[in-house]
Parts: sequence; structure tokens; C-alpha cells
Amino acid sequence: MGLKVLSLAPLPGDLVKLLIQQTQGVPDFEVVSGHELEDGDLLRAVSEADVVLGDYTFNKKITADIVNAAGRLKMIQQPSVGYQHIDVDACTLKGIRVANTAGANTVSVAEHTIAWALCLLKNLFFAHTSTKLGGWEQMNVKPVELKGKIWGIVGFGRIGQALAARLRPFELERILYYDIIRQPRNMEEELDATFCELPDLLQLSDIVSLHAPLTETTRCMIDEHAFHAMKPTAYLINVARAELVDEEALARAIMAKTIAGAGIDVFSEEPVRLYNPLLDVESDKFLLSPHTAGVSDEAAGRIINMATANIAKVLKGEEPDSLVNP
Ligand code: NAD
Repeated sequence: MGLKVLSLAPLPGDLVKLLIQQTQGVPDFEVVSGHELEDGDLLRAVSEADVVLGDYTFNKKITADIVNAAGRLKMIQQPSVGYQHIDVDACTLKGIRVANTAGANTVSVAEHTIAWALCLLKNLFFAHTSTKLGGWEQMNVKPVELKGKIWGIVGFGRIGQALAARLRPFELERILYYDIIRQPRNMEEELDATFCELPDLLQLSDIVSLHAPLTETTRCMIDEHAFHAMKPTAYLINVARAELVDEEALARAIMAKTIAGAGIDVFSEEPVRLYNPLLDVESDKFLLSPHTAGVSDEAAGRIINMATANIAKVLKGEEPDSLVNP
């Protein structure tokens, strides 16, 4: 029986095949498009697949039932960083590898974070809306410079470090970082970043940006207490996971001007629901985006290239990269 790749992504099968074939030495294989398959047909397709390409829209969930239908399946390759729609424990129990494309959108997230900081400091939302309404609010925009400010980075992994590297030309007074793992001295020097415990970072920073994963220790790490520790002129940027921040406390902090503003890309329920307290916040310094910090043409290209190259490795009998099984 020939090798089979089942694609659950809404992409043409021919395109997936062409991309996998870009890697030299891949044996002959067939691509089955499974995005439209349901129930019995889907289980049958999974039972015959050697590799599954996951769905980047997250609509096609890979449940334990689907995993248990697998016959000779070696790997599920998810073409995104997130993989919350895949039952990884069920895969691990069955010896099926699960891989993601970690790092493919690091630059996009770092750039989005800086874009927001500049929008907030320059008061660009107010500048735009007031001018569009025919106003001329030159004296009320009150922009300030990023130069000379203190930026606190929480979570100093791929994105946190990419951010620090991109902040250097802005001539900040200091870049502070907090992480459960302290970087070696030479790395701190290279990125011009100083390790700092979280309470101190919150107190000192003009901008606090979050780049840590959601774990039991990061859940609600930015709560009412944290907002009171921050400067009233400080901004919070969350491009990590919503649950790192107490959303209700954030809404109160902005309305009460406990902090000056925030940029939020992630929500406790996505798509965001109308009853989310953040949607009631009225402030020109409160910016929202629909989980698009990591989205860009370039990141999409990197994701699909990483995913298909990893599938090619498995078809060639090699060990894949970027596994997420514990
Ligand atoms: P990473 O694993 O490279 O870095 C995460 C860092 O957080 C690590 O250095 C880790 O030690 C640190 N960390 C873990 N627990 C911590 C804690 N309790 N306190 C402080 N730091 C802690 O991950 P990354 O690629 O830099 O991504 C970071 C997060 O960004 C991801 O977990 C994901 O949730 C989020 N993300 C969001 C988007 C988006 O579109 N908004 C895109 C990609 C990633």
C-alpha cells in the first residue's frame, strides 16, 4: 500500500503535494483532501493515512475517537503554533507524534507588539478618529517618545527575545525581562536586557508586554494587584494568552485610569463574545485585535514551508522536528 498524506487543511491537495515534493528524495505518495470529510469517511481516511496535515482554521478537531481510528499514522503535523484542537494525550498514548510550527510567526508577534506600543504612546487612535471627524486636535493628542522609556518583557523566549532585539534602535532607557529561566550573561548583554523579578518589573516599566505561555503559574499573573503596582502612565500589551490577565480587573483598571491603556490581541473566549467586559471599555488608549499578532503573509509562508518539510522528513523515514508530545 502506497504512502498517504491526509490533509485536513482547506488547501488544494495538488498544492500540498507540490510543497512536500520540494524536499529532495521523498518517496512516491498520495495526498487525500479531508477538509470536507465527516464522521465515517473521516475515520476511514485517518485509518489509511501515514501522516495527517492538521487544520489551521482549527475547525477540524482531532479528537480521541479520530486518533483511535489511526492505523499506521506516524505523525500529525499542525500548520500553526497553537494545537489546542488536537488531543495530544491520545496521540502520545498511541505513539503518534504531533508537531507544530513553533517560531514561524515570532517576528510578526514582536512587530505587532512594537506597533501597539507606538500607537499607544503617540495616541494614534485618537489622532485618526478626531481628524477624520474634521477636528484639528493638535494640542490634545499629546504624543510621547518611546526613547528613554523602560520596557518590561514578561516571558523571554523566542518572541520576548525577538522583541528585545527589535527594540534596541529605539534607545530605551532600559529593557527589563522576567522569566522563570534566566538567560546567560552573554545573551543578556547581546540583547541589552536586564533580568528583574515580576513585582519590580511591573513597578518600573512604562510598557509591560506579555510573552509567556498559559500555565498554572501564569494564569491571572496580571490581576488587580498587578495593575495597582504599575505606573498610572504605563501600558499593558497582551499578545500571549488571554488567561494571563484578569479581564474584568483590566477593564476596571482602564476605566479607573489605574493604568494609561492597553493593547489586547487575545480573549478568554475566541471569537470574542459581546458580553466580554473588555468590549465595554471606552478609551482611545485601549486597542483590540482579533488574535492577529502572529498573522502575516510572511508567517503563513513560513508555516506552510515548515509543515510540509516536516511531513517530507517523516515520509523519508526521518525524525520530525518541533514535536509537542510531552
Ligand atoms: P517560548 O516557549 O519560546 O517562550 C516562552 C517563555 O515564557 C519561555 O522563556 C518560558 O521560560 C517563559 N515562561 C514560562 N513560564 C513562565 C512564567 N511563569 N513566568 C515568566 N515566564 C515564563 O514561546 P514563544 O514562541 O516566545 O511564544 C510565547 C507565547 O506567545 C506562546 O505561549 C503563545 O501563547 C503566544 N503566541 C501568541 C501569538 C498571537 O498571535 N497572539 C502567536 C504566537 C505565540
